[in-house]
Amino acid sequence: MAFSLLFDYVIISGGTAGVALAARLAEDTSVSICILEAGKDYADSENEDVKIPGKYMANLGREWDEGIFNVPKAGAASDRVLYNPRGKGLGGSSLLNFMQLIRAPVSEYDALAASLGATDWTAAEFPKYFKKSQHLTKNQPAGNQVHPLTSDPALYGSGPIPNTVPVYTPDIATHYYTACKAVGMPFNPVGGSGNNGGVWPALAANIQPTECLAPMRGAKNLTVITEAHAGRNLFTGSRATGVQFQDQKESATGTSGEGRTVHAKREVVLCAGVFHTPRLLEISGIGGRAYIPDGVPQIVDLPGNATEDHPSVLCLCETSLDSYDVLEDPRHYRARTKDTGPLSTATLFYSYLPLKAFMDPTKITEIQRLAQHAAVQNTDITSPRTLELFKKWLHDEETYQLELIMVPMGLPILPGGEAVPGKRYIFFSIVLMHPFSCGPERASPTGAHGLEVDLALLGNAIDVQILTAGVQFVRKVIEQDAMKTGAGVRAVVPGPGPLDTETADA
Ligand SMILES: Cc1cc2nc3c(=O)[nH]c(=O)nc-3n(C[C@H](O)[C@H](O)[C@H](O)COP(=O)(O)OP(=O)(O)OC[C@H]3O[C@@H](n4cnc5c(N)ncnc54)[C@H](O)[C@@H]3O)c2cc1C
Repeated sequence: MAFSLLFDYVIISGGTAGVALAARLAEDTSVSICILEAGKDYADSENEDVKIPGKYMANLGREWDEGIFNVPKAGAASDRVLYNPRGKGLGGSSLLNFMQLIRAPVSEYDALAASLGATDWTAAEFPKYFKKSQHLTKNQPAGNQVHPLTSDPALYGSGPIPNTVPVYTPDIATHYYTACKAVGMPFNPVGGSGNNGGVWPALAANIQPTECLAPMRGAKNLTVITEAHAGRNLFTGSRATGVQFQDQKESATGTSGEGRTVHAKREVVLCAGVFHTPRLLEISGIGGRAYIPDGVPQIVDLPGNATEDHPSVLCLCETSLDSYDVLEDPRHYRARTKDTGPLSTATLFYSYLPLKAFMDPTKITEIQRLAQHAAVQNTDITSPRTLELFKKWLHDEETYQLELIMVPMGLPILPGGEAVPGKRYIFFSIVLMHPFSCGPERASPTGAHGLEVDLALLGNAIDVQILTAGVQFVRKVIEQDAMKTGAGVRAVVPGPGPLDTETADA
């Protein structure tokens, strides 16, 4: 393979962060950059699903989804293996993600500075970076006349990432807005701006780092090596100066592929995602001694923290209206691939809810009491400052604790939720915003399910109680006449009976 072995910057990997960083660095033609990415480049591939906004759910479980598995050893989810999608390929998890770029409330950015000590990361600082990276595309929203999004152009700049007002609105939207209003969540025309209460359709952000890279493709100073599995970083003293990698294209043809090395004159940048980055550090000698392989010298003693992720509970319903499931029928598919049809838009409806919006006051008092006794430990939050912040937020009437997403399509990955051909579905994703549970274990590549991790999801009773109240709230929404009669909505998974967490003493 013809490439220089010495670059100014070596970036592991070509994921979301890596590609954006490489594109920015490559603007300076006097520096050379090399990306090492374990997966393939799908930009020119015939797999169109990675490129069509309306097919975002079709990417789960595909070749470009590495699929990491949570195998919790304790807590309410410990009898289950939970699937965690994760992108593998140029673009990383943005090959799979839902393209939403939602801004957080001012108070949450400011907490990064005030409580966690990231003093430059205040709400006052963020907008200049948003403007630098994003612009607003005002399409003519078909079918949105009754509920238009009125995003403020002043919040956007001229950066490469388009934030696009959705051009397609499915029939269920009006019924859903009516039901949401009846349960205290009116339509919010500025949703996604930081003021994220009420209900609103997603402003698709089209975060496509492979697109960010597009102007740079072919640039003489940028070398992209895909199917390059990075291994140990090499050090001169305590400075990373190179990376070993395995060229999997060559290994596949049996030619070589073993033991290649690239060197960095300036920096090796490690951004291989939340599960792989710690492991790559450890095999390179940075981490707790117990996690560094025998024979590798420890360069930095960095015990590290456990991993935290926001779990989502999924509820599947049937509807009498057309949903994206009509696209399963090839006749509909052909008829609807127009610029303004369902495929043009990643259609999702968002709500962010503070506790008081969906939880009984006695339950709120109960979880506040539980939080008093929460301690820093390896299946709960391990950072004392984060724990204090999360405890404080349970008393704050405005902090969003739940993200509720309504998606107008079925969900084949939900156990028991297999779609019946010809039927139409919607599903709700109920996402915990500030989980108290925290995973004690690193990703292990040798588990029975491939890459496994223990995130101890639902290990803390506060998380279980908030998510249970979220499911009960969704039931209230679908019981509204607008949904029940207007949209013919009926619960499929979970069905109408009591939830396990209501019958057990969870
Ligand atoms: C289904 C789904 C939906 C999401 N929806 C949204 C959304 O709507 N909005 C939002 O803001 N966020 C969303 N996210 C989250 C967002 O996509 C991620 O936070 C983001 O992509 C992470 O970027 P990253 O660069 O840290 O890692 P990734 O983009 O995951 O990149 C990691 C890369 O490292 C590579 N790699 C790993 N090990 C090696 C190695 N040894 N050598 C070389 N390369 C290696 C992988 O192949 C991968 O390409 C979603 C995520 C998923 C999975």
